[in-house]
Parts: sequence; structure tokens; C-alpha cells
Amino acid sequence: MSHQDLLEIVQKQILACVGDLELDPEISDVLHSPMRELRVCMTVRMDDGKIKVFEGFRVQYNDARGPTKGGIRFHPDETIETIRGLAALMTWKCALHDLPLGGAKGGIICNPKEMSQRELELLSRAYVKAIDRFIGPDRDIPAPDVYTNPKIMSWMMDEYSEISSKNEFGVITGKPLCLFGSEGRNDSTSRGGWYAIREAARGIGLNLEGATVAIQGYGNVGYNAAYLAKSLFGCKVVAASDSKGGIFREEGLDPESVFVHKSETGSVVGYPGSKNISNEELLEMDVDILIPAALENVINVVNASRIKARIVAEMANGPVTTEADEILYEKGICVIPDILCNGGGVIVSYFEMVQNAYMLRWGLEEVYRRLDEKMTFAYGTVLDASQRYGIDMRKAAYIIAVGRVVEAMKLRGWI
Ligand code: NAD
Repeated sequence: MSHQDLLEIVQKQILACVGDLELDPEISDVLHSPMRELRVCMTVRMDDGKIKVFEGFRVQYNDARGPTKGGIRFHPDETIETIRGLAALMTWKCALHDLPLGGAKGGIICNPKEMSQRELELLSRAYVKAIDRFIGPDRDIPAPDVYTNPKIMSWMMDEYSEISSKNEFGVITGKPLCLFGSEGRNDSTSRGGWYAIREAARGIGLNLEGATVAIQGYGNVGYNAAYLAKSLFGCKVVAASDSKGGIFREEGLDPESVFVHKSETGSVVGYPGSKNISNEELLEMDVDILIPAALENVINVVNASRIKARIVAEMANGPVTTEADEILYEKGICVIPDILCNGGGVIVSYFEMVQNAYMLRWGLEEVYRRLDEKMTFAYGTVLDASQRYGIDMRKAAYIIAVGRVVEAMKLRGWI
């Protein structure tokens, strides 16, 4: 799927709820229009002594409900369309989880795998210099995303603090713990996703102890999802995959040793005692819970009718297309939509902002408890709307999220 398609999918989902919310058609134009888009150019003197120009973006989609929030990606194929689509998703995700935040996303076209630490630091600092007037703890708060990490967040926070002539820890989240990042941020997306799965399982009468799980993707989200499947609920992870292929073991995989194997060999494939399978086979396996945790568009009109899982938990952004969604709904599969399922990351980022603003440090258990509370409440609200109106969980989630943003815009006199 092209990056343009992600934006189209998000826009289709908004259009689908415009009727239910009884919105004027022109309001959907407003919802399709990002509030602010920045395109910036940065120069870096590379290690070979030559100057290189990099292009970057920051899209602030909608701030009716509060300062905008969203990650920064470093990727050679970055486009403004991807960033725009992801900024829109962040807007609905923050609204659905009732965070006092709007949505944003940023990116730089670069290949971090081919850059030295010095070059990455200079680029990170140059990006902050280029957008510093548009970000800030009360304005727009970036975070890590694809190929950015706590170290890059530290450089960015430091650059912003230098420009502001004071420490501004709250300008960025996903910082290292010693620079006042939050406990529990690392596995927050997967943990939040599992709290949502627990609620879904309760709803359909599925006992999680011993339930079978297949996970596509073994990065930050996929690995933690596998680890937590076993450690939180005693589930049996029978299949996992990455970009090179998948593995299956009927008796269950040991998530941590699969992680070690991947770190040593570059892939989960070839894990001792497992059978190699394709990513396509993994998605169509007869398991209780399927967790797409890699890419967009992997469950589509071609394979949707062959999906057998009872619960599909979208920890990735946009893994199920709109056409496939309808097929899964007709099959009675419980799909936990991305803006609900993977909201744990931004929820704990928000906790980091709160701790920074009040100069507090919450312990791990407190972060888990608060995360559980927010995920469980959001799940219940979406389930309630879906049952009341006889609609699928995604539509219910969008109606709630878009409705909240529209209400805020109306009350503020914007529309
Ligand atoms: P990551 O880069 O750490 O991991 C991605 C994984 O996907 C890797 O294991 C990679 O090998 C695998 N992969 C890539 N191409 C694949 C393919 N063709 N088939 C199967 N696997 C493939 O990324 P991540 O942070 O784990 O994010 C994964 C997904 O979760 C993305 O959609 C991301 O937008 C979403 N997400 C992440 C967070 C977060 O906190 N990290 C929050 C919300 C949503």
C-alpha cells in the first residue's frame, strides 16, 4: 500500500461517520484539512567534509482539544502524505482516549542506518532549530517513532532548551529515564494492547490462559506483545514473524529466546525447534488471537475471508483495509481497531508530560495501573457505542473520537 493510501483510509473512515454524527458536509472538509504543515530544509556537514541538504516535515493536524502530539520518523522513503495520514490518526487516537491533546507527526528524509552518531546528532539539532517556533510543551510535543529513539529525543530536548535558555524537559516525550522519561514507556503500546485484548476476550468468553496467539512483526511492539502474552496472561504464542518470514511451534515459542535468536541472526526465521512459515500463512492461522504488529494493509480483500482468529488486535497502524473490515465483521471476528488498541504508547507519553510538568516521578506499578484504567475505560466506551448502534468497533471508535474533536471546534467557535 502506498503512503497516500493510509491517508485515504483515514479519510474514508472519517467520511463513514459523518452521516452518523449528522455533520454538515463542509465539516468533513474541515476534518480532512490539516491545520498546519511545515516543510523544512536542513544542512549538515557530513563526516566526509561535504555539506548535505535534508528535507523534513512536521504536520500539526488539529489542536482543538489541546497541544498537538506525535512522533518523529527518520526514513529514506518519508513523504508528507504518510506524515499527514499519521498526524490525522494521532488526532483521533488522542481524542478517543480522552487525552487533552491534538494530533501531529514529523519526519526527515534520511537513512539513519548509513549515518554516524555525529551526523545524526547534527541533523536532530538542525531539525529542532528549523521548527522550534512551532513546538513547545504547550504547543506541540514530539516523540520517537520509526528509527528515532530516546538518544535522539535527548539531543532534541537539549537543543530546544538551549534555544529557550532554560531546561524544557516537557518539550519531548520518550526521553531516557535519567532525563525524566517515564517508567513503562518501552512496552506501553503492547501492554495497552493486551489490556484491550483482555476486555475483548472477556466479552466473547475466551479464556486467555493457554489461548493461542500469532504475531506479525517482532520489533518493539511485536516482541513486547509476545513477551506480555505469556507473562501477563499465560497465553501460548505459537507463531511470530518479521520481514524475512515467520516461524511456528505448536507447543508455543519462548518469546525471549526468539528475541535473542533474532538479535544474533537478524531474523526470527530458523529459530531452533520451529517450522518456517510465510507471513501470509501466519495471518491465516487457526489461532485465538492474531496481532498484526508490523505494516499497514496486511489484511485485505484478498485474504480477509481466510482469517480464522477470534480476535484481531491491531497493534500496527492501519493493518486492515476498509473492505477487509466489512468481511471480518460479517464473519463475527472481533477486531480491536488501531486507534483503540495501540493507544498505550501515546497514553504513557502523556503521563510523561504530566510528570514533567509537575516535576514528579511515578513508579512502574502506578504507570501500569493508570494505563490499564485508561485502556479499559476507552474499550468499554467503544464497545458500548458499537452495541448501542449496531456498528463495528472501528466505526464506533471513530464516531466517538471525531465527535469529540467536532464538539471542541464548535464550542470554540471555529465551525
Ligand atoms: P519496529 O520497526 O520496531 O518493528 C517492525 C517489525 O515489523 C520488525 O520486526 C520488522 O521486521 C517487521 N516487518 C517489516 N516488514 C515486514 C513484513 N513485510 N512482514 C512482516 N513483518 C515485517 O516498529 P514498531 O515500533 O514495533 O511498530 C510496529 C507497528 O506498530 C507500526 O505499524 C507502528 O506504526 C505501530 N505503532 C507503534 C507504536 C510504538 O510505540 N512503537 C505505537 C503505535 C503504533
